[in-house]
Formats: sequence, structure tokens, C-alpha cells
Amino acid sequence: GFKVPHEATKRCRDIHEAIEFCTLWESQREAYPYEIDGMVLKVDSLELQSRCGATSHHPRWAMAFKFKAKQATTRLLDVQFQVGKTGAVTPVAKLEPVQLAGVTVSSVSLHNEDFILSKDIRIGDMVLVERAGDVIPYIVKPLTDLRNGSEKPIEFPRSCPVCHTPLARLDGEAAWRCTNYNCEAQVLQRLIFHVSKDAMDIEGLGKANIEKFYQLGWIRSLADIYRLDYDRIAQLEGFGEKSAANLRAAIEKAKKNPVHRLLHSLSIHHLGKRASRLLAAHIDHVLDLKDWTEEDFTRIKDIGPIVAQNVRAFFQNPENIRMLQEMEALGVNMRPTEDDRPPEPAEEGPLSGKTILFTGALQHMTRKEAQERAAAAGARNVSAVSGNLDILVVGEKAGSKLRKAQALGTVQILSEEEFLKLLGEDGSA
Ligand SMILES: [Zn+2]
Repeated sequence: GFKVPHEATKRCRDIHEAIEFCTLWESQREAYPYEIDGMVLKVDSLELQSRCGATSHHPRWAMAFKFKAKQATTRLLDVQFQVGKTGAVTPVAKLEPVQLAGVTVSSVSLHNEDFILSKDIRIGDMVLVERAGDVIPYIVKPLTDLRNGSEKPIEFPRSCPVCHTPLARLDGEAAWRCTNYNCEAQVLQRLIFHVSKDAMDIEGLGKANIEKFYQLGWIRSLADIYRLDYDRIAQLEGFGEKSAANLRAAIEKAKKNPVHRLLHSLSIHHLGKRASRLLAAHIDHVLDLKDWTEEDFTRIKDIGPIVAQNVRAFFQNPENIRMLQEMEALGVNMRPTEDDRPPEPAEEGPLSGKTILFTGALQHMTRKEAQERAAAAGARNVSAVSGNLDILVVGEKAGSKLRKAQALGTVQILSEEEFLKLLGEDGSA
């Protein structure tokens, strides 16, 4: 027979408690090492069981609670080609809207030409779509048995759909790129990325407002964001004094951001969050990077030659330097803040020699405090799950990092309480 994991069963006092337990499991099913599609509710009193009775197929005292479906089939209506912030042209499938794990899905990325060719996806196909946990929806496969001959192959463009520059495919890359740095689509995507949550995190200045200000001709470069005319914004339809003032406050706040955010916000190809943090920890001023050689970059552990080349190329371009100087003159911080410098591990402590990473929402302290405590106990904070990670501390709603650590099997996984206990503190401290 099957082994039944004991934490997955619970005796509930009433139906409300049972519903709560099922909902809890539905929300955390991705973190469970086995694929599950629902739960079984049983009445455990023999007396009530006999009163429930049975149909001709099954007893009435045991019922299945099915989780929301993670897969669905729908029709692929069309494919559009979008130009990203680094010029990569991404095919996006437009779907007949379909319900999937509680949300309506009407478009999914097809990633690149190889993905389309390897799956032989065609316009007009019925496709199987899946959405699992925090993973974005994707096409598993076309249902080729349902074809009637009217399906059309997807033709990949040979020039940029926006600026018409011929597309290029670099060695070892799956993406076709528009190589025109001043391509309007790229400029706009870079502006949108700059203000996004992952980058400068400017609240109230999302995609729609960037597009509006761009169309009005108010912003062309990243620096323009920091010299917006708030009086004119207040007069725009849908704005007014209050939202213009809120926007100003959000932009003023962003000017003080740690420089790892600024570096990441520049849309330098392959310079992700992690590499941005590594660079930020090694400079005194962002513009120092214009004097760096490729070796200066690769001397930093975990900065590879491709990131080194791309960052160096960006800082060798006088136009970019001018833009950063303008931003600094407008008040954008270029010097590492406390947040840019990871706490140094203490030489001795209960965690000395260990690497540690925090994921999910912590209840007793902020992420920063947790990292400081870990460092004070001798641990070195790292930013990714890998074979080099010793301890993963898991808060609420932990996602892909927890799954990756579980899959590795070599990482010690601790709750926040267990982490505090390890430091000799309890949760109430
Ligand atoms: Zn273009």
C-alpha cells in the first residue's frame, strides 16, 4: 500500500475546520514533494457513518475535495511579437480566454523560435495550457489529433516589428534581437523596467503612466523621470494635485535607493539582481565602473565574463555616463548605502563556516535583521540556492527556493523558530 504522510491528515471538529484545512493544503500544494490534486474528507464516527449510508458506488461518509485545475485546453488564436528591454523579440500566443487554477489566462509566452519549432505549435491549434504555483502559465503541447488542416505555421519576423532593424541571433542564444539600442520599443521597455518593483520600485509610476508620459514626449531617457513637471501632471486627466504629490513623494524616495537597485534598473543584458548586489558591494560610487577593466569585474567571485563584458560596454558608452551624471545631478543616489553592504560574518559563532539564505515572509524580524543575526552568529549570507548552500530558513509562502532546496536534498531546511533556537534565542525574543 501507500505510505500516508501524517502531517497531511487531520481530525477536524466541524466542517468549517475541514474547509480551512483543505484550503490551506490547496495553497501550499506546490511545496509538497508529491503531486496532489485534492483531498478526501471522511466522517470518523462509526455511528454517523452508518447513518450516512452509501450509494451504489461509494459510501456517503467519504468525499473528495478537488483542487482547482492546473491544466486546461483552449485555442491559440494568434501570435504577436514583442520587443523587450534588451531587444529580444518574444512571440506571445493570444489564447481564447480560459480558467486556470483560479485565474483567466488569455496570453502566454512562446519564449523563442526553437520552442515553437520543437513543439510544432501552429495558429489555430487547440493547446494544453498549464499553470502550477508561482510559475507563469505555459503551453505544454498542441493537441495535434484535433487539427483539421486549417492551422497555420507561425512565421518568425526577420526584422524588428517596431523599428524594422534586421534581427540578429547571437551565438549560443535562443532569442532573435533587435540590435538598435535606440529602438523605440526598447527605450519604452527600459523605462518601464526602471520604475518596476524589481528595479527602482516607484509606486504610482507603472507601465500605463510611463507610456502616457512617453507619448506626451515628457520622458525619453531614465534621467527624464527625475525631472518630471508635477504641475503639468496634476492637470492631466485622471491625476489631480493629490496623485501628483504622491508620485513626487515616490520618486523622491526612489532617489535614495541603494545602488544595487539602480544598477539592476539600467537593463544591462544579463546583469540580474544578484550580480547587481555583488557589484554594489564592491564600489564606492556607481561611476567608478567606467574605469573598470574586464578583469576588475571577473575578479569578483560569481561575476562571469558575459556580465563583465556587458557592464563594461555600458559604462564605456559616453551617452550612458552622461545620463548617469544627469541623474546624480537630479539627486539620484550613486553611493552604496548600508543595504548595499552585506553584513560581514563574525569569526566565531554557532553558525561559523556555514552559508545561509532566508526565503518567504518572516514573522519575528525583517529580512535585513535576520541576515544580521545570521552574520553575527558566523554565517555567510548568500542570495541563491545552490550546492554551496548549507541552511535555508523558510518563512511563510516560501516558493521556488524551497522547492529547489528540497530537490537538492543537501540543504538543511529550518523554520524561523528553529533558526532562532539555533542562535540560542526563542521566538519571543
Ligand atoms: Zn527595434
